[in-house]
Amino acid sequence: MDTSAESADMPPDAGGVVHARIVIRGIVQGVGFRPFIHRLASELELSGEVCNFTGGVSIDIQGPADKCREFERRLIPESPPISVINAVETEALSPETFDGFTIQPSHERAGGPIYVSPDVATCGDCLRELKDPDDRRYMHPFINCTNCGPRYTIIGKMPYDRPNTSMAPFEMCENCRREYEDITDRRYHAQPVACPNCGPSVQLVLDGETLDGSAAIKRTRELLKTGKIVAVKGLGGFHLACDATDADAVETLRRRKFREQKPLAVMVPDIDTAGALAHISDDARELLQSPQTPIVLVRKRLPEGLAHEVAPDSRDYGIMLPYTPIHHILLREGVRLEEIAFTALVMTSGNLSDEPLCIDNEEAIQRLGGIADAFLIHDRDILIGCDDSVVRDSNDGPIFLRRARGYIPFPVQLEQQMQTVLAYGAMKNTTVCLTSGKNAFVSQHLGDLTDAQSLDFFKKITAHLQDIFQASPEILACDLHPDYLSTRHAQQQADELELPLVQSQHHHAHIVSCMAEHDADGPVIGLACDGAGLGEDNTIWGCEVLVSDYEDYERIGHLKYVRLPGGDAAVEQPFRMGMSYLYEIYGSEADELIPSIYPEEIAEKWPMFRQMLQEDINCPKASSAGRLFDAISSLAGVCQHATYEGQPAIMLEGIAERQDNETIGATLVDEDLVMDPSPLVRQAVEAVLEGVEPAVIAGQFHREFAEMLHNAAIQTSEETGIQTVALSGGTFANGILVETLSARLRNSGIEVLLHKSLPPGDACLSLGQALIAHHRTKKD
Ligand code: ZN
Ligand code: ZN
Ligand code: FE
Repeated sequence: MDTSAESADMPPDAGGVVHARIVIRGIVQGVGFRPFIHRLASELELSGEVCNFTGGVSIDIQGPADKCREFERRLIPESPPISVINAVETEALSPETFDGFTIQPSHERAGGPIYVSPDVATCGDCLRELKDPDDRRYMHPFINCTNCGPRYTIIGKMPYDRPNTSMAPFEMCENCRREYEDITDRRYHAQPVACPNCGPSVQLVLDGETLDGSAAIKRTRELLKTGKIVAVKGLGGFHLACDATDADAVETLRRRKFREQKPLAVMVPDIDTAGALAHISDDARELLQSPQTPIVLVRKRLPEGLAHEVAPDSRDYGIMLPYTPIHHILLREGVRLEEIAFTALVMTSGNLSDEPLCIDNEEAIQRLGGIADAFLIHDRDILIGCDDSVVRDSNDGPIFLRRARGYIPFPVQLEQQMQTVLAYGAMKNTTVCLTSGKNAFVSQHLGDLTDAQSLDFFKKITAHLQDIFQASPEILACDLHPDYLSTRHAQQQADELELPLVQSQHHHAHIVSCMAEHDADGPVIGLACDGAGLGEDNTIWGCEVLVSDYEDYERIGHLKYVRLPGGDAAVEQPFRMGMSYLYEIYGSEADELIPSIYPEEIAEKWPMFRQMLQEDINCPKASSAGRLFDAISSLAGVCQHATYEGQPAIMLEGIAERQDNETIGATLVDEDLVMDPSPLVRQAVEAVLEGVEPAVIAGQFHREFAEMLHNAAIQTSEETGIQTVALSGGTFANGILVETLSARLRNSGIEVLLHKSLPPGDACLSLGQALIAHHRTKKD
């Protein structure tokens, strides 16, 4: 919220009556804002009017000066829970004649930014009604009000009125209409308002047969209790659900979904159950219970409370709370839903690994037919797919791993007025970004852009963003990498629309994205650490020290290059990286080391890799932080096969015991700022040979690596006088690394910028690209 709200003096006129106009911008439509204003004005006996306009509400109040001031004072603190206020302007006017306090029809006023509310978890009031046998919406799977319910995912176009949403086919019954039109009602102008008489309904599809309503829900629970897998339609897509305490069911789900080891998210009935399964910090509790209800990564309690197959090889569970009425009704039972039906349900995205989310009933039944035994569907269409968000808490605040439902399409707010730029992101975990005015609308997580299906989804979201925010781009932006589908699509679009295209270097875009989230002036020192991004010299970069502003950057330093035996294959087989580092550092001694470090079935592959390295066959070189983590993870015996992105590093962090002994890092940085990790690798290898616990090796490595980056940043700071360091790149999803490094930097008097609302991984790139494109093309 913008706290710099201007408050004009409101001098009383001769009669002690003042008239003020307050204009509020932000998410104030469809969230119960006007009824709230009406209540507040009535309580203070003020006259005047309120009306919506595109991008905000305008309020006229008139009455005694002290009452007007009280109105102003209470306006923001008491505003509806899901409203988001970006700016408040107050203007003093001369008194007029008002007939009490009224709500005026909306008027279109062009030019203002448009805000759309994200989807919001079922609120406490609706939950009470849901459980109340005397309420007319008792057990209604679509109960919602102005404080909660679907928003972004049901909006086809703006303005946000029922005919423009997927609620259009449902004609309100008399009772619902009365509530919808009653200014004092919690459902006043709640566009998705519904009840059992007029709203959508659920259906269970099972072996070609169907069950409706409560019978469908009851049967779904029975199926889940007997180990079946049910596809459940939610807010932004389908989930694949099964009982998380049933090892066979979870195993079957993994097998059918082709998902080997990556942890599966679970939904638990309430916060107490979450606390029984995992250690929940205050911040994690707040995130879990927030209206956004993301999946929060929290450390498991031991012994494990759920089937081991839910999150094998991970110390964490990804937990979320129910966020739709259907979830509440599924997870609980009894007349007032007083009994817990499931400790936890696995609720994983309804797709085959790496495919876009299913949102349509027919499509889900087709595409998920090989995974789910039954389908709990409903007839309120999802117009735009939106995955669950994933967050972890750290001492430095939440780290987003995936930003989607609950947060989209809330913009990143900028201080600078932007040209309209459409930025296409990169390839992995990609997003697109559209800037308009001082807002950057970053899309939901779009997954990996690797095939025709994901490209379709990507194009659909890109078009949808332009539709709902009514903006068409003046400039396009993308990555440097010529083979990314996003780059090719951007080039096509630039040709077709005859628009300028700005391509930016991957790690520069990372750092600019982080700067933009803080409105940092720059230049800053950027530490960009990730798996891979194309460098300007055509090599693979991934652990870079940049001095960066919004327009340009200089590559001051980087991690020493190492070769990747087999290129991308090295990403899936981290032992290739372990061996490459051993060969690099120990030369022919590696021949003896490898059999004492690696199990036989891996060690026997060494002669082949040795030949590749020796003769430089298919061994591209990279300065990648991700590959260094892979090497250490492999050398320490933690992970030899990556079945999902980042697994070796995630597992290494998962077991790391924090160390606070002396570091050797101080000597790591040479004069040209090539960070040589040899001492770190040697240290790890010696520890492995001495039989030191992997947990200790992992802890030590995290500390040393942080120290190495710290020293590189400090050296750059001394040379340039820059005191601000921005951290970006997927490697900074690592909580231990972020905490250790930022504490060290702050101790050295450095200001540290971390991503606040975007993930540090490649999901943040579209924002950085947009800013770079804007600055490179602006005419001043
Ligand atoms: Zn509600
Ligand atoms: Zn109704
Ligand atoms: Fe990256």
